[in-house]
Amino acid sequence: MPELKIVVSIKQVPDTDDLRIDPVTNNLVREGVPAVVNPPDLHAIEEAVRLKERYGGKTIVLTMGPPQAESALREALAMGIDEAYLITDRAMAGADTWATSYTIAKAIQKLGGADLIIFGRRAVDGETEQVGPQTGKWLGLPVIGYVSEIKSVEKDKIVVVRTTEFDEEVIEAPLPAVITILETANKPRQPDIMSLIRAKTAKVTWWNKDDIKAEPDKIGLAGSPTKVIKVQPPPKTRKAEIIDGKKDVEKAAKWFLDKVFEALKEEQSTLKEYVKPKPKVKVNSEVWVYIDHIGDKPNRASYEIMSEARRIADLMDTSLSAAIVGGEGSKALIDEAFEYGADKVYFAEVKGFDRYDNEVYTRALSKLIKKYKPEAVFFPGTRNARELASITAIEVNTGLIADCTNFDVDDKGVLLSTRPDFGGKEMSTIICPKHRPIMVTVRAGVFMPLPRMPGRKGEVVREEIDDLFTRLKVLDYKLIEKRNVLTEADIVVGVGRGIKSPENIKMAEELASLLGGVVGVSKPLADMGWYPKDRQVGQTGTTIRPKVYIALGISGAVQHLVGIMSSKKIGAINLDPSAPIFENCDFGVVGDIFEIVPKMIEFLKNKQVS
Ligand SMILES: Cc1cc2nc3c(=O)[nH]c(=O)nc-3n(C[C@H](O)[C@H](O)[C@H](O)COP(=O)(O)OP(=O)(O)OC[C@H]3O[C@@H](n4cnc5c(N)ncnc54)[C@H](O)[C@@H]3O)c2cc1C
Repeated sequence: MPELKIVVSIKQVPDTDDLRIDPVTNNLVREGVPAVVNPPDLHAIEEAVRLKERYGGKTIVLTMGPPQAESALREALAMGIDEAYLITDRAMAGADTWATSYTIAKAIQKLGGADLIIFGRRAVDGETEQVGPQTGKWLGLPVIGYVSEIKSVEKDKIVVVRTTEFDEEVIEAPLPAVITILETANKPRQPDIMSLIRAKTAKVTWWNKDDIKAEPDKIGLAGSPTKVIKVQPPPKTRKAEIIDGKKDVEKAAKWFLDKVFEALKEEQSTLKEYVKPKPKVKVNSEVWVYIDHIGDKPNRASYEIMSEARRIADLMDTSLSAAIVGGEGSKALIDEAFEYGADKVYFAEVKGFDRYDNEVYTRALSKLIKKYKPEAVFFPGTRNARELASITAIEVNTGLIADCTNFDVDDKGVLLSTRPDFGGKEMSTIICPKHRPIMVTVRAGVFMPLPRMPGRKGEVVREEIDDLFTRLKVLDYKLIEKRNVLTEADIVVGVGRGIKSPENIKMAEELASLLGGVVGVSKPLADMGWYPKDRQVGQTGTTIRPKVYIALGISGAVQHLVGIMSSKKIGAINLDPSAPIFENCDFGVVGDIFEIVPKMIEFLKNKQVS
């Protein structure tokens, strides 16, 4: 087999652990914060080095960034990468993912291409998951996102396992190809001291915009279709009610349980009623929602965002349409889309493709967008829809704003999309001034669907797609049967270091079982092997959206909070009244979990609560 040429593209990010909020200005303090290799990129580097060890060949790392990003490249060299390139130029500053992926693609072309290009799944500062697939699109290469395992690399093809929230596919693709790698794929190595010393003085080649022949109007802030117009601290969405549980343990335990049951009663699965807002402007083209699905099974997140897209369409005095790409088996989705609020449905029929294939679906959706020219397209934040949106944005030449949690329309009719950065420490409001459609992906679990209106009908626009060519071959497919229990549970009892020993977790398990919930843990507990890793909640664990999250002896570090932010209600019990979890919960008891939890268990067993 000819030797492989592998390029890894990485990013340097501020160490989110060290980012603090200035208590006076409420702004993020960036000065003096150390920069590190974006942690998910370490897995991309590791995978490249392992492939070289397995098959031979050459590994190259590159990054686009300021001069100090050179240190990230040296870390990659220390891990075993052979060559490093820093793509740096003042004109590249402020690039969004469109301009960043263009720049990286130009650098890869300057390198003479590669057999395999590997990206980390996401960058922890922005969480867009866009740059990898978009670079692949610029290069015209097959893209496989969310790779959990590389099975084999042969002459001119690669076989990988691609894992989404719902399913797992074994995919074969021709080389060259672009992949993004999941954090579960491997454990990045720690370089030894000799490698670190060698890497310190190793050659790093610097290239500017002229070296890579980048067109000046496609790079940096000037070349970016999207613009950040405002950065602000996150709004306080939870008003915590905290009581002292040290004096009267019984009272505190009862109060806490009442709060849990109150929260469960309040819970609803759809918006109670929709109040149509007064239009702010009149926009002539439509607002669309892309319906993500597997066969005839829609992803709930698609209908969640339909309610928000409906509100935006009403503010713009235009209609709301659903866009569906699928085969014969996906046609049932058309009626459902009307019942969840769409006025019109565009159905791009791709015969034989009831499931997502990024090449076929991108072409089909791009054809719809180019022909019918919507004002905005909302995508649910699932893995498939994020990948599809990323590649489509390059195909239709527009900006894509990732992972939004809030929207508004200003008096001039501009769509304001707000998204969390740095794991929610900062919120950025972003616009797409000149390109259309405005494309956004929306975080799942943030909005609630409109109540279903059975029998509601609308206009169907059918578009038959003839070009069904794909370079991706699915060798094996399975739905993930045993989905992560944490993401399915209505109640999650989170346990932190306050639990003191692994035996004590039984107490939390008993509480969870009496409430009909499951136990999740903070990272240190998973790291110490006290509980399975797949029960870790947080930035490097699972993101959960239960009806109620109960934090027992958890301090509320930002990396933990990121994973629980979308819980409907959060309750906390902690000895320390100044623990950050109390700033981020709905109800809390300052007290000892070893006093309060046994009391709660006693009440539940004796059915002394409603
Ligand atoms: C790159 C990176 C990724 C990370 N990813 C994650 C992640 O995914 N998930 C995650 O959880 N963390 C993550 N972390 C770690 C995170 O920063 C925190 O270190 C971790 O969440 C702390 O866990 P804890 O709250 O259990 O422990 P601690 O911070 O030690 O808190 C223990 C708490 O228990 C309380 N306590 C003690 N005894 C009692 C008692 N008897 N009764 C009541 N309260 C008591 C204490 O007051 C304290 O607040 C990550 C860190 C990094 C750098």
